[in-house]
Amino acid sequence: MTAQSNDFVPANLPSSIQHYIGGQHVDSIDGDTFDVLNPVTNQPYLQAASGKVADIDAAVAAAKDAFENGPWPTMLPRERSRVLHKIADIVETRGQELAEMECYDTGLPISQALGQARRAAENFRFFADLIVAQHDDAFKVPGRQANYVNRKPIGVAGLITPWNTPFMLESWKLGPAIATGNTVVLKPAEFTPLSASLWPGIFEEAGLPAGVFNMVHGYGEEGFAGDSLVKHPDVPLISFTGESRTGQIIFGNAAPYLKGLSMELGGKSPAVVFEDADLDAAIDATVFGVFSLNGERCTAGSRILVQRGIYDEFVERYSAQAKRVKVGLPHEESTEVGALVHPEHFEKVMSYVEIGKSEARLTAGGGRPEEFPEGNFIQPTVFADVSPEARIFQEEIFGPVVAITPFDTDEEALELANNTKYGLAAYIWTNDLKRSHNFAQNVEAGMVWLNSNNVRDLRTPFGGVKASGLGHEGGYRSIDFYTDQQAVHINLGEVHNPVFGRQEQAAEELQA
Ligand code: NAD
Repeated sequence: MTAQSNDFVPANLPSSIQHYIGGQHVDSIDGDTFDVLNPVTNQPYLQAASGKVADIDAAVAAAKDAFENGPWPTMLPRERSRVLHKIADIVETRGQELAEMECYDTGLPISQALGQARRAAENFRFFADLIVAQHDDAFKVPGRQANYVNRKPIGVAGLITPWNTPFMLESWKLGPAIATGNTVVLKPAEFTPLSASLWPGIFEEAGLPAGVFNMVHGYGEEGFAGDSLVKHPDVPLISFTGESRTGQIIFGNAAPYLKGLSMELGGKSPAVVFEDADLDAAIDATVFGVFSLNGERCTAGSRILVQRGIYDEFVERYSAQAKRVKVGLPHEESTEVGALVHPEHFEKVMSYVEIGKSEARLTAGGGRPEEFPEGNFIQPTVFADVSPEARIFQEEIFGPVVAITPFDTDEEALELANNTKYGLAAYIWTNDLKRSHNFAQNVEAGMVWLNSNNVRDLRTPFGGVKASGLGHEGGYRSIDFYTDQQAVHINLGEVHNPVFGRQEQAAEELQA
């Protein structure tokens, strides 16, 4: 089957999608829409409402009203938890439909889109459990004071998400934001709004009160939905996932309002393979680590550092395996790499493939697969002997392209691993216990995996250092981000006041 003969269309595919504000599906106030493309054909298949300042104003007003006057923020955690569990149940039962839409809209292979749908359900289930288990600190000063933390939701949370695994990443923010009693305005990525259009139906069926969840589609730039949300004075929190450059802009735009910010940004994560590693496992993991999710993965191990003694063997075996990775139509079960999300992104990744050819040795891929003359398909591409100065070593490509670099000593490996502006994840392959922990503790990365791919326990902190992010979410850190912790201090004993304004009175009494 070729791209031209792609006739897969998911069930219930809409031809237009609207915003969702205060429980109603609505067009943009100015009637504007934008085209959404199918990445296999690059043909528009959907018009989405294009939000601007006025649409964000309406969505924030609805969210604010639901926060101030609605039942959600003051409901018992157990009651909110029940709604979240229902959301998880519905996402689970609609997993196939959801994954088909995601795959159609993003170009992700269906098998991987299904995994992401399951993860989205799990995100809601996890926070549903966490809020009923939530306990807060209390501090005692014997005989004198008791102090406790009064945790409360903050208000309207602005959630801005990217186009890679969009539904799952939206769930990652929606789960904790609403579990803690906030109301939200979600601005999904403009390349991939399709799966987000399922949220309103899911939330209504689960019994989430109107106005708790609001969604405005559209672009991010000034005058459009994303920027307007960041600059809205009634939105005290912004949780953003996207490019580091966009994060910088949002940081600047939020500064005058002193908003709470959580920033999950780009990455160029190292996978470090030492001579003593289990080579079979390391090769399988590092192939998966950069080519899964089409390489459009923030935590992709896109720089592989390999110790000299095994370097030639590693490059040869890795390249051979990369050539066997199956590029195919996103909806086919056997597909391992599908179509990149959008022609603009395809051009960007292709430009890096060309840059790589002038900077390093191409050992696999390097262009469009012959069987896909159209659509955003790229062969899994491997460059070896990549120097740390190379752009393909330093810059996030966000596609199925990997850079392999040799090293001799542990010190050199660490220096190379830390030699980019990013610091999201790191993967270390060695059987030496001391080395693995020393390396893990010194590598500049928010998350480290030892002898493992990216397998995440939802309780652990998620986030990057350096240009990869600001703040951490995950488990109780998400609860902390979406709540205020007010300290209440109670005096239990005598009132200990340094007394002011009594000096004259004391002197007068002495004279009398
Ligand atoms: P992007 O920064 O271009 O866009 C992300 C979102 O921000 C979109 O919804 C966009 O419309 C919006 N936006 C753009 N400009 C804005 C502005 N000025 N104000 C407000 N909103 C604005 O990112 P992308 O290309 O959609 O996503 C890919 C990037 O996301 C990669 O860099 C990837 O590493 C990163 N990412 C990071 C993580 C993580 O957890 N660290 C996870 C996934 C993706």
